[in-house]
Amino acid sequence: MTTVVLKPKKEESLLRQHPWVFSGAIARVALDKDYPYDAPREGELVQVRAASGDVLGVGHWQVGSIAVRILAFGVDALPKDFWRERIAAAYLVRRMLQLVREDNDTYRLVHGEGDFLPGLIVDVYADTAVVQAHSIGMHYARHEIAEAILNTVPAVRNIYYKSDDTLPFKAQIDGDRIGWLITNHQSPITNSDEFWSTENGLQFRIDWLRGQKTGFFIDQRENRALVERYAKGKDVLNMFCYTGGFSLYALRGGARRVDSVDVSQKAIDLVNVNVARNFPDCTCHKAVAADAFEYLDAQRAENHTYDLIILDPPAFAKHRDAIKNALRGYQRINAKAIRQIRPGGILFTFSCSQAVDKEAFRLAVFSAAAQVGRRVRILHQLHQPQDHPINIYHPEGEYLKGLVLYVE
Ligand code: SAH
Repeated sequence: MTTVVLKPKKEESLLRQHPWVFSGAIARVALDKDYPYDAPREGELVQVRAASGDVLGVGHWQVGSIAVRILAFGVDALPKDFWRERIAAAYLVRRMLQLVREDNDTYRLVHGEGDFLPGLIVDVYADTAVVQAHSIGMHYARHEIAEAILNTVPAVRNIYYKSDDTLPFKAQIDGDRIGWLITNHQSPITNSDEFWSTENGLQFRIDWLRGQKTGFFIDQRENRALVERYAKGKDVLNMFCYTGGFSLYALRGGARRVDSVDVSQKAIDLVNVNVARNFPDCTCHKAVAADAFEYLDAQRAENHTYDLIILDPPAFAKHRDAIKNALRGYQRINAKAIRQIRPGGILFTFSCSQAVDKEAFRLAVFSAAAQVGRRVRILHQLHQPQDHPINIYHPEGEYLKGLVLYVE
């Protein structure tokens, strides 16, 4: 196996179980005598050693600033049954969290570094798991991973692979980035239109074939449940609604009206399907395809206000260099929303940009409140749910944060 030797002292973060080796920390790469190439192949397993020669772990080699993502510490080869053990450990936690229930078959089974599997995401929707690789190493391990999931999670019968948006675009890799890894349907599903998954008793159509990410945003489950608690009798705006997760919980919580807004018409079609499925007699829901900023400006022009607004925008900053603009974006959209809240109303506001930390986000929302000049109190500070755990040695895994504000 190829050996990566670190510069002196560069082993410290690995000894603290941080799973990334940066390219700048590497002193040299030693290839086996009969290795056929002059550099490691992207995605292959490599051994990492300290300058002293001590074994630090094994991981996937990657081209870029993160050169190795460690899968197992303190060993020079992957233990036998590695994938099975890790997937089983992840499943055990989801069961302990009581996420695997008759009225809840939607959960994240593997959350990358948070489950000690850097570069791997697995979401479970009823009898189908959607696997997403963020590293070439995970791409090459996909069949072993699929096998391990099938053998571990009794409900899962089909495994779909969806890594077209997540693997490095330029990488030359063998094998498809998208498609079924395992299917036990008589004929493979080519159309996810009739596929339903249940979250806390609410049914969602999951479009893993064409949808964003793996098809659904599981990470807002707990925060949606909180919206349900506040929704009774309220006029609700669910901005950036995508499949309408927050809208369904608000309706179940007894909202008087719910308006769902998203710029994507496909998302709006999905919301309508989901509302019709769960609340066939509902006449108090409306879904609108519109830009968030324009929609809120139009509400202001018409003097139309809401009791409860949810703002769950896409990541405004995908990279560190975009942070400033992102913060401006958060301030602008939050100011517009705060303006449209009736006295005594509530704003649920979120950021899923990993690059924007919770202090920076809070400052942006503070600036928005100050700009509008309303009296605002923080009722809750929200974050990602338990099935998106944060490895304590890898604080970079924290990404979702939210505030619930009471606006006088
Ligand atoms: N709240 C959703 C997830 C939101 S994802 C849930 O609980 O599932 C972000 C959504 O914002 C996407 O559906 C995207 O289509 C939408 N979006 C992106 N830019 C937008 C804009 N300018 N105006 C309105 N919606 C936008």
